[in-house]
Amino acid sequence: MHLDLSSLLVVFQIVSVTCGFMFALDTVDEEPSFGFWFACSFLCAPLASMFYLLPALNGSWLWAYPVGNGFAALTTALGWIGARAVNGRGVPFPAALAIPVVIALLMIPVGPVDSPWSGALPFFLAFSAFSALGGAEFLRKAAGEERLLRHSKILAAICLINACWYLARAVAFVTLGPEHTFFRAVLGPETSTILLLVMIVLASLCLISISRERALRLAETYAAQDGLTGLLNRREFLRQAEQLAQQREGGDTGCALMLFDLDHFKQINDTHGHLVGDEVLRAFARIARSALRRNDLLCRYGGEEFAALLPDTGSAEAYGIAERIRQSFASCRDGSLAQVGPTTSIGIAVHRGAGIPLFRLLEHADQALYCAKSEGRNRTSVYAAPTPATVQQREGRVVGIRSVASGQN
Ligand code: GH3
Ligand code: MG
Ligand code: MG
Repeated sequence: MHLDLSSLLVVFQIVSVTCGFMFALDTVDEEPSFGFWFACSFLCAPLASMFYLLPALNGSWLWAYPVGNGFAALTTALGWIGARAVNGRGVPFPAALAIPVVIALLMIPVGPVDSPWSGALPFFLAFSAFSALGGAEFLRKAAGEERLLRHSKILAAICLINACWYLARAVAFVTLGPEHTFFRAVLGPETSTILLLVMIVLASLCLISISRERALRLAETYAAQDGLTGLLNRREFLRQAEQLAQQREGGDTGCALMLFDLDHFKQINDTHGHLVGDEVLRAFARIARSALRRNDLLCRYGGEEFAALLPDTGSAEAYGIAERIRQSFASCRDGSLAQVGPTTSIGIAVHRGAGIPLFRLLEHADQALYCAKSEGRNRTSVYAAPTPATVQQREGRVVGIRSVASGQN
């Protein structure tokens, strides 16, 4: 079978332009945009092959080969920048500009220009090096994120195969020379073009999957988060809390639920304005998050109410943590908080034993919170299960609350 290089190059141009546009359209709104760099990379490839085609049209344009090599090497350099962007790693602007310039200089042919192989060796090496760098970025991605594992691995494989292929071409070029039968038959431009064709199609499919996956993940994050504080929202909190409760089914470790309600918050809004109110909410979220452990769940439960679920926590420990949060919040003087002096009331309910009835915990913590409010605010109350004696003494709406008061009203 005879492979005609000119026809192959035309096919390559059509495929890479199609993939480049398809990819650019699919990822143009991404932020940070790795799509931009890959679209540039894919659209640079047909430019390279256009220069390779020129000598076939007019034999005197042999300078077109090194220029084509320059564009082809630029393709992989842009791919490497794109691979860095996939990992959220930037490329400093001067470097982004310098890379194409350096590559263009590298491609200045050593020796006579009237050879189709002029500038080939630096091109092989640059292509191989940037492919390897891109491969390393995708391996890093594959190691970091489970859901992107498969696509990142395929992309890493594509880059590393490219790197090896062009390294092999460089070695064979030096040792055998480009006119050697083995070089022409196996490592020549025809096989390289076919290999690149397959890789460019595979890479664009994988990149589109990665960008879809990222968009999905972003949507999931937004759906689970409270926009103002960045904490979990109520729905996500309840979902994760239910999951946690199920995981602990049959276990006997305690679990504490805290409800926080900022005191006189309406008055803060009315006196200082809603922007200051928002700042107070963000400050509370920050303070509570830093006082809790990594696997404790914290959410904005509603307007100025927050909830936390602390696995493996008894009532004394939960009380200590809640008090730390209450005191840090009351003494916080960051920004506008100095003029506001906000406080919070806290209700805690603790469950011991197998199976955590979440709705009961919420109900009990709410009763404890009501008690903290009615006893003067800026305090922590821990729900205590009513004993027969307390049931007999039941008075009013709140039952079975052991309130631990502290601080001023
Ligand atoms: P208490 O001490 O009894 O809890 O009184 P309170 O004023 O804190 O409670 P109330 O339920 O009367 O008022 C809650 C206020 O929280 C009313 C609402 O305007 C405000 N709020 C809810 N969400 C937000 C928000 O996102 N930003 C701001 N600035 N205010 C909010
Ligand atoms: Mg409230
Ligand atoms: Mg309130």
